[in-house]
Amino acid sequence: MNLFDEYGPERIVEVYHPGLGMRGILVIDNTALGPGKGGIRFTPSVDREEVFRLARTMTWKNAMAGLPFGGAKAGIIGDPKKLSAKEKDEWVSAFSKLLKGIVPQYYVAGPDISMAEHDMEVFARANGDPQSCTGKPKSMGGLPHELGSTGWGVYHATLVALKHLKKDVKGLAFAVEGYGNVGEFVCKFLTEAGAKLVAVSDSKGAIVVPSGIDANLLFKVKKEKGSVVDYPNARAIQSKELIYQQVDLLVTAAIPDLIKKEDVPKIKAKLVVEGSNIPTSQECEELLANRGVLVVPDFVANAGGVISSYVEYIGGSEKEMFEIVKDKITKNTELVLQRSEKDRVIPRVAAVKIAQERVREKCTTCK
Ligand code: NAD
Repeated sequence: MNLFDEYGPERIVEVYHPGLGMRGILVIDNTALGPGKGGIRFTPSVDREEVFRLARTMTWKNAMAGLPFGGAKAGIIGDPKKLSAKEKDEWVSAFSKLLKGIVPQYYVAGPDISMAEHDMEVFARANGDPQSCTGKPKSMGGLPHELGSTGWGVYHATLVALKHLKKDVKGLAFAVEGYGNVGEFVCKFLTEAGAKLVAVSDSKGAIVVPSGIDANLLFKVKKEKGSVVDYPNARAIQSKELIYQQVDLLVTAAIPDLIKKEDVPKIKAKLVVEGSNIPTSQECEELLANRGVLVVPDFVANAGGVISSYVEYIGGSEKEMFEIVKDKITKNTELVLQRSEKDRVIPRVAAVKIAQERVREKCTTCK
């Protein structure tokens, strides 16, 4: 993949700590609108290309959300489950120290897969600058992602899309891929609004309950037993089968490249809301659109986390955060769906156009 085009990436930084064996990658894609902002993911499979694709997504996401941030993303290559808590802290700390001089001037970090508020505290303390990352614990003046800002935003993007499709949220059957930080809150807010959760998955497997899953009980089961597969009286299915379930809405909230070309004909949902980043390709989204499936793209639907980061960055409160996320996600999703209809393009293409217009307006290095 050729990573370079008229927008970036401006910097690709690879770091290594020989003592720990820690390898990390930072891609700062474009800083026309402000310092690059994007989370750090800690997974065994993260690589340069994945980080670049995510950084580019952040360029459009931040521009689309109307934030004074450019796009960036980082990855620590390793399996956090194989490290003790102390070892994980050492890895995060080493990564942070190796980025000194870059944060927070050119990059402001945040949490992503397997990175939470504690890790952000470790990251900030290691380089000595609290402004170097967001998603820190409340005790450090942070607005941790554990408050559910992304899930809250995905929920509001879903409400706008349902209105667009003239469908009611009450009684709507939905499935959620990935019961983590994003998925958990999507399950909570949608069920509270009257929708019926019929299928859910995590890294250990997937379950189906046609009569509906109790979101409070699911939360308890996950917390106490560690996986959604232990939910009582549920039918276990293969993880991959989750996306083919008979539902009105599918919310993605875990892995990249979840929906492949061959999956498209088997998807029964008429609405897909991308809570996770890059859960599919643009080609698949076009194919889904041809089959009458509306897809709300990742960087529009899941911008709640970065909007919350912005509120933290400017010293806002938790209450303000929830209001600003709701307001921005609702307006942005409406804008994208309207533009998509007007230009007769899929929502992703419409959203990228809007974001590109905003970046180009300020970009002095773009061609
Ligand atoms: P998380 O680590 O809290 O949760 C991920 C969940 O996915 C876990 O429950 C895990 O068990 C599950 N999972 C892992 N592999 C799976 C598989 N093969 N099938 C089904 N489930 C699987 O992560 P998160 O913060 O909820 O992030 C999820 C996605 O949302 C990522 O793509 C991330 O980039 C994106 N995202 C997160 C935020 C945020 O604020 N947390 C913001 C924007 C985008």
